[in-house]
Formats: sequence, C-alpha cells, structure tokens
Amino acid sequence: MITIFYFDICALIIISIFLISMIIREQLSNRTNKIMYVMVWLMWIATFVDLAASVVSNFGEPSAVNVAILYICNFCYFLSHNMILPVYVLYVYSSIEIWHLYKDRTKITRLVWYALTFIDIIVALANIPTKLVFTISDKLEYNRGPLLYTFYVVAALFAVWSMWLIIKYRKLMNADKFIVLSAIFPLVLLGVVIQLINGQILIEMFCAALAFLFFMIVVQRDESMTDPITGALKYNAGIARVSKIFITQKPISVVLVKIANHNNIRLYLGQANYNAFLKSVTTKMRAVSKKNKYDAEVYYLESGLFAFLSEKSELSDAMSSAEDIRDYLKKTCDIDEFQVVPDARVCIIRYPEDVDDFATLYTIGTTFHNTMPETKEILIYSQYRNDENYKMRSEMEDIIASALNEKRMEVHFQPIYSTRKNRYVSAEALIRLYDEKYGYISPSIFLPVAELTGQIHAIGDFVIDEVLRFMSSNDLNKLGLEYLEVNLSAAQCIEADLVDKVISKLEHYGVKPEQLSLELTENAADIDPIIVDNNVYKLHKEGVRFALDDYGTGYSNIKRVTALPIDQVKLDKSFVDNMDNPQMWIVIQDTIAMLREMGKEVLVEGVESEEVAKHFVDINADLFQGCELIQGFYFCKPMPEMEFVNFMEEHAGKNAIEL
Ligand code: C2E
Ligand code: MG
Ligand code: MG
Repeated sequence: MITIFYFDICALIIISIFLISMIIREQLSNRTNKIMYVMVWLMWIATFVDLAASVVSNFGEPSAVNVAILYICNFCYFLSHNMILPVYVLYVYSSIEIWHLYKDRTKITRLVWYALTFIDIIVALANIPTKLVFTISDKLEYNRGPLLYTFYVVAALFAVWSMWLIIKYRKLMNADKFIVLSAIFPLVLLGVVIQLINGQILIEMFCAALAFLFFMIVVQRDESMTDPITGALKYNAGIARVSKIFITQKPISVVLVKIANHNNIRLYLGQANYNAFLKSVTTKMRAVSKKNKYDAEVYYLESGLFAFLSEKSELSDAMSSAEDIRDYLKKTCDIDEFQVVPDARVCIIRYPEDVDDFATLYTIGTTFHNTMPETKEILIYSQYRNDENYKMRSEMEDIIASALNEKRMEVHFQPIYSTRKNRYVSAEALIRLYDEKYGYISPSIFLPVAELTGQIHAIGDFVIDEVLRFMSSNDLNKLGLEYLEVNLSAAQCIEADLVDKVISKLEHYGVKPEQLSLELTENAADIDPIIVDNNVYKLHKEGVRFALDDYGTGYSNIKRVTALPIDQVKLDKSFVDNMDNPQMWIVIQDTIAMLREMGKEVLVEGVESEEVAKHFVDINADLFQGCELIQGFYFCKPMPEMEFVNFMEEHAGKNAIEL
C-alpha cells in the first residue's frame, strides 16, 4: 500500500522546532516542563519511525531486511505513540497543580496509571510471538491484527481520564488554558478517525503536532514566567502557583532567601555584574535543590529576594537546602574581578504548619525585607512570628504613622569633641521614636521602613524643624556649639524642593546656614547624581555645611564621593572596631592622611574607650591634626534636649577631657 507521508514530514518539522526551542530556552527546570519535554520526544520518535516505515514500504524492494526494518519501525511507533497519552495525563496533573492527587497515599491513581500503561507495553511485546497486533508481509504490506484495538481502548481510557481532570479542575485554570487543553482532543481524534478510515493518509501525528502548536502558543509562554536576568521564575508565576496550591490544599514549603545588602552590592558591582551575581545565586539555588532532592522551583521576587517552593513540606527537606544556600552566601562571591560578601537572611515557611492562608504567605513575602531579624540562623516562620521583635517590625508602618501624629518622635543630641580645641564644638541630632508598647525603637529599625513607605520625608522635616527650633531658642555661643549635624536620608537628598525648604526654614528660625551641617551617606551620593548634585551644590553655595557619614561602609567610588562639596568625612565605627589589627591601623592612618590632603575635616565615630580616644589624639600629633573630631559613647551618649543643654552648659569653655 502506498502511503501519503507528507503530513508526517510537516509534523516532524513542527515537533523538531518544539524540541529545539525547549532546549534553547532552558525550559526544563520544573516538573511540568520536564513532562512536556518527554511528551514532545515521544511524539518526535513516533513521527520519525512512522515516516521511516512509510518511506521503506513505499520505495523499498521487498526483502528480509526491509521487512525487519518495517517491523522494528512499527513496533517503535506503537511503543512511543501509546506512551503519549499516559504522559499527557501526568502533564495535566502537574500543570494544574494537582500532582499530589496522582501521588496520593493510597496509590490507587498511580496503580491505575501503571496498569493501563503496562497493558499497552505487554500487548506491543506480545506481538513478537503471537503476531496478533500487526504483521508485515513479505511484500512489505502492513496488516492490522485483532489485538491492535486494545491500544485504542487504552488510549480512549487515558483520554477520558485527562478530560475528566480538565473538566473537574477547570477552576484551577484560566480560560485560555482550559480551552487549549480541551481542544487537543477533537484535533487528535480527527486525525485518528481519518487514519482509521483511510490507512493511506498518515495524518494522526500531524493533527497531534497542530494541537501542540496551538497549545505551545497559548499556554507555554515561558518567557513571560521567567525573569530574564536571573533565569528564575518571576514573582507573578509564584503568586499564580501558590494561589492554586492553596485551593487544592497541597502541603508545601517555601524558603525565602533575602540578600539584605543587595543595594550595596549593586552599587559596588555595577548593574551588569550585579545581574551576573543574581544569576549565580539562582544557579546555586537550583543546584542545592537538586543535591538535596528538595525538588524546588526557584523564584526571584525582586529586590534581592529569592524563594524556593517545593511540594516537600517536611521541615528537614527545607532545612538542608536552606542551610546550604545560607552557607554558600556566607562566603565571598567572585564576580568578574570583584568580590562581594552577601548578607543573606533565610526563612522557612511551611503550609499548613506555619501559615494557613494565602494572604498571610503573600504578606510575609512582600514584607520580609522589613520584618526579618538580623540573624544568620535559619528562621522558621511559626517560631519567629510570635517573637515581639517580629510583631513590632510588621506593625512598623502604623507605629511610625501614629508616632508622627501623636508627636512621639524626639530628637536627641550627641556631642562631638574637638581634640584641637579640647572641647565640644558640635553635636549630631539623632531621631528617637517612643512607642507605648515597644518603648524606644532604634532608628536602624524604623528608618528603613520609613524609607520604603515614604514616611522618611515627614520624619526628615520634623528633625530639621526640631534642630532649627533648638538653635533659635538657645544661645549656641554660650553652649560652645559652632554647628549641629543632621542626618539626611537618601530619599531626602532627591527631594525636588529640598533646597527651597531648607533655606526657608533657616530663614524662618533665623539660623545661619553655616550653623547647619547635613550628613550624607555614601549611598546617597550614588543614587541620582544629577538631583543629588544639584541639591548639595545649591545648599553648599548658600553656606550649608556637608558631611559624609559612615565613610568606609559603602561601596561608592571615591572619585564620585570626593567630587561632592563635602567639608567633613565621618569615619565609620567599623574602622575603630578593627583598630587592633595592625593592617587596619595602617588603613586608618593612610585614609586620614588622604582625606586631609583633599582638604576634608575628619571625624571618627563610635569611640567607646579612653584607649581608642588616645590613639586618635596621638595620630593628630603625627598627621598634623589629621583627625580632629571624635564622637562616641566614651564622651557621652545621645541625650534628650534638656539633658544636652545642661551637659553643654556644664562643659562650655572648659577643657573637657584630659587625654
Ligand atoms: P549615624 O548617623 O552614623 O549615627 C551614629 C550612630 O551611632 C547613632 O546611632 C549613635 O547613637 C551611635 N553611636 C554613637 N557613638 C557610639 C559609640 O561609641 N558606640 C556605639 N555602638 N554606637 C555609637 P542611632 O542613634 O541608633 O542611629 C543610627 C543611625 O540611624 C544613624 O547612624 C543614622 O544613619 C540614622 N539616623 C538617626 N537619626 C536620623 C535622622 O534624624 N535622620 C536620618 N535620615 N537618619 C537618622
Ligand atoms: Mg550620622
Ligand atoms: Mg555614622
């Protein structure tokens, strides 16, 4: 019989394109895609052997070899073709997130699946001795045997099974997926019927390929699910998956991995290297999941936050992967020629043990960066949820709002000592928040939240007003104060009206611009150079002083920092903390010498002991008054306004400390 095999050629082309695209797009990271991959391979093999058989029977001479080739081709065709529908059933289970039903504890579903698949394989194998499925004649003719119809029966059962799943769980799919998954059946059925009626037209695989083409276009839009930078799945894909999981009540575990210092890493590495760093974290997470058989998918939820999501909900499963990734991120990462040390926070959340609704899980994910405690320990959500600290952090936005409303913010002052003048010459204004429930809350806890919520602007205005009011209502000369320092957050630096606001406030309170020093951090110097420069230059031109805070902790480039009109540089406490290290001592001396040469005034922060203070006095002798200013608990802690006034009155005009 001469067969028409052009449809098979087209089918082979279409299926080959699927396969190549799946390989190129590295779509094999999750179970659903892996099942799809197997299914496409089966289709490819079935089409290929179908085509080969038809070429041999159309053009081959009748011979024993060709009979054998035809036999093998048909045998392979049945095996691969019959496996497509069972695998499709698995695909439906996996893609609509009801895999746990297939893997149910009673194993009935799996047993039925294996039994039906087994029947197909046994019947195909039985053809070898019995020839009851098909035969190949000496004239290369293909003849159907009575057992062949078993394949149709089994295929019909698998088709009904998958259709039943699709209809029963249609709520777990969006409309386009439902339509496409259901449309596969009439298309494939059409091919089967045509080929059954006229065995000459090999159209079955072509219809199947068309159905899959339709399917791929509508459903497998993988790039819209994958983050192009990290290669991990996107936030939206995670939300869609988790919301489905909650409907089906399937137990899961999620490991959140937050790179707390991701902003600094980006500033330090530059965008391109930062992207490479994020990609390396995704790759490592995948490797960790594979090694621990955690079977997790990796999601990138933006702003340095990653998540593992696995159907293995045991704490031990999640823990080993959480520990591995934590340990990996503890180490220095080499990116290009740069080295970074990520500061990772890792938290395990299990459903249903730790959270029992979608809204809570969603909130934990979106607020993790504000609420996570500073620890290298692996957190387990249900344990730290009850922690007072966590509660406080999650209520922070409201705490700040009510503190601003009820005027429960205060400004405290920490004096700054001049070793040259041997007296206190200045002080730093530091915000304090008092909450009835939690007492005094550290600015390092509430300010990052205020930065995210935008409340930082109101806080910033409040501090400037308070400091200027203080200056206008006290005789600064009498207190020995030359100027006061106010911290300016990065968000404030890019306020469009910063210059006008500060100038009009100075005028309103009758304070001279030289009496105000604004502290920038290195990060602020890097955010939006144009606006920052504009604000800083204009204010500096008006006479306002500028200081660079926490010098040595950021990653910004020294050229950019020194290009700003900065009068004073404040060496971060970390310099002092590592002073015992002789190498560090060299760094400190060189840094001071360099900054002095640039004409900057140098202040050292965080001096807690007489011994350290003395070191800096000695440095001054060597380095021509290199580090003139010292601030730290050794001299005094930040104090409320009245206490500060008393302290300054007491010390004014006196050589405060013998060092
Ligand atoms: P900062 O500007 O570097 O302020 C110095 C911090 O170190 C203050 O912490 C101060 O209390 C603390 N400190 C001073 N001497 C010592 C010492 O000898 N040992 C130790 N361990 N600490 C010392 P505080 O008040 O908790 O403020 C933390 C950070 O919060 C500040 O760091 C600053 O970045 C920010 N901040 C505070 N007030 C404001 C504000 O009004 N506006 C803005 N934008 N940020 C503020
Ligand atoms: Mg400061
Ligand atoms: Mg500082």
